[in-house]
Amino acid sequence: MSRANDEANQLDQLYKEIILEHYKSPHNKGTINNPDASVWDNNPLCGDEITITAKINKGVISDVRVDPKGCSISVASASMLTDTVKGQTVVEAKKWIKIIKDMMHSDLQVSDDELGDLESLKGVANFPVRIKCALLSWMTLLKLLENHKGGQ
Ligand code: ZN
Repeated sequence: MSRANDEANQLDQLYKEIILEHYKSPHNKGTINNPDASVWDNNPLCGDEITITAKINKGVISDVRVDPKGCSISVASASMLTDTVKGQTVVEAKKWIKIIKDMMHSDLQVSDDELGDLESLKGVANFPVRIKCALLSWMTLLKLLENHKGGQ
């Protein structure tokens, strides 16, 4: 095995570990009482489900919680989503949704440093059947933000 291959495998292993960490204990798991916005959605292809609740105040997502059920990629992606958008403005969150969509089409516009743990989802782009798993929470968040009328 060449050295480059070896390094690629190590990186792959690291990504798997990051995904597994989030899957085992998703960040900001649960639901908010009296949320400003709430959306449920699913990915029937894989059986993934998610509920997202959020507090949105003057255009800022002051709190967001996810209740994801499904495969490791969908749950890990939802966990990373909360880390990414909590405390961000709605505008900023929408930018991130676009970044993740672009990432799944291998058209990444930001550096790995900016991605943080999200970098571990990059490899999903190579597995078209899993892209919907990775995107479920992000597309559900987009729906939530577009449904939400107040606080903008
Ligand atoms: Zn899935």
